[in-house]
Amino acid sequence: MLKYFYIESYGCQMNLYDNEIIITILLKNNFKYVDNLYKADLVFINTCSIRKKSENTIYNRILFLNSIKRKKKKFLLGLIGCMSKRIDYKYFFKKKLLDFIIGPDQYKKIPYFIKSLNDNRYSYNVILSNEENYNNIIPTKLYNKNKVSSFITISRGCDNMCTFCVVPFTRGREKSKSPKNIINECKLLYNLGYKEIILLGQNVDSYLWNKKSYLKKDIINNNIKKSINFSNLLEKISKKFPNMRIRFSTSNPHDMSLEVIKIIKKYNNICKYIHLPFQSGSNRILKLMKRKYNRIEYINLINNIKNIIPDCALSYDIITGFCTETIKDHIDTLNLMKYVKFDFGYMFYYSHIKGTYAYKNFKDTVPINIKKNRLNEIINLQRKHSFLKLKKYINTTQEVLIEGTSKKNKNYWYGKNSQNSIVVFPKKKEKIGDFVKIKIIDNTSATLIGKFKSFL
Ligand code: SF4
Repeated sequence: MLKYFYIESYGCQMNLYDNEIIITILLKNNFKYVDNLYKADLVFINTCSIRKKSENTIYNRILFLNSIKRKKKKFLLGLIGCMSKRIDYKYFFKKKLLDFIIGPDQYKKIPYFIKSLNDNRYSYNVILSNEENYNNIIPTKLYNKNKVSSFITISRGCDNMCTFCVVPFTRGREKSKSPKNIINECKLLYNLGYKEIILLGQNVDSYLWNKKSYLKKDIINNNIKKSINFSNLLEKISKKFPNMRIRFSTSNPHDMSLEVIKIIKKYNNICKYIHLPFQSGSNRILKLMKRKYNRIEYINLINNIKNIIPDCALSYDIITGFCTETIKDHIDTLNLMKYVKFDFGYMFYYSHIKGTYAYKNFKDTVPINIKKNRLNEIINLQRKHSFLKLKKYINTTQEVLIEGTSKKNKNYWYGKNSQNSIVVFPKKKEKIGDFVKIKIIDNTSATLIGKFKSFL
């Protein structure tokens, strides 16, 4: 009788959120969640396919877990998340390395699949749905038990077909959750004492909901009126929960509207921080990536943000070494960074992933040592910019939400300001979850150092 389940998670916050959805579904079906692999008779691996390295980590983990199954503890092992549609299931079932594989749109049926496993059959269902399947499922809060910040997925999938990306194939078309359910989840977090909400989506800016269709493409193609877009949703939530901080990720330069920027400006409780991946500074590479915007359009958007919200912090994702990238393309990227001077960034070199448009149509021409050199150049430049940007906070007073004890010094708290910068300061009478005013006295390239000034 399978009863105790354990979830191991890799990849982004959307996978963490999905874990909380799965826990609710299984608890409702009399399964018990355990936070230790060795207590479980059912083990889920929630997976990420964003880079080859992420997938290789999972393959190694499957082998390791099978060695535990053989030597120590019997359990059924299942794979969920973005790799579910990509993995060679016939091989993994034939080798008895996995017992079930379930895709991100089929989690509601997990109890049924588990029950059918008892007959020693394998379960495999990775069908992508055109509906937002988890609309009425309230996630069981597992992460951020410190009750400070938690995330809510507002949309799934993506309609943009960037040539390097697997998401549209692993998560399907864009589907938005109803505002009513999102507000209910915000209420739940508020009542549980959380202070911050992070709205999640592969592309939050293209959030579009209408009771007539979940699919963005249908709402647009059929010109369905009275739909709720991201700026409407953001305004609704910030008005309804004025004492909660609101953050969101991830934005897309092609879909971000001026309305969203104005709403961020209008409401104090919406954090002054935007994560705006640009991936490359070269128009030629942006075209090959099918990013739907060019360098000037990106810079105009940045200028709009800086004009409307001067104190807004900016971060980005970047991929260096994309197929056919030349030194000139690379310099274009460095020059864009020098123009914007981002607060921080997530920087990677290109990974040629099977199943993407780029894999099928382009050659991975840039040698790995060149990719690594260019990435180091980008990281060093960003480190310089981050240090200069954080230096500007010295002698200012920042509103900080305390998240926990500093990893480096147990006598220090750490928290974040509205701009998502980490702030550390000596502990006094405060506690986790407090909003406090901190006088900034110093900085590194990653952290602001301050001292307590007052409670809010
Ligand atoms: S917008 Fe983001 S999630 Fe969508 S295809 Fe492009 S990179 Fe992937």
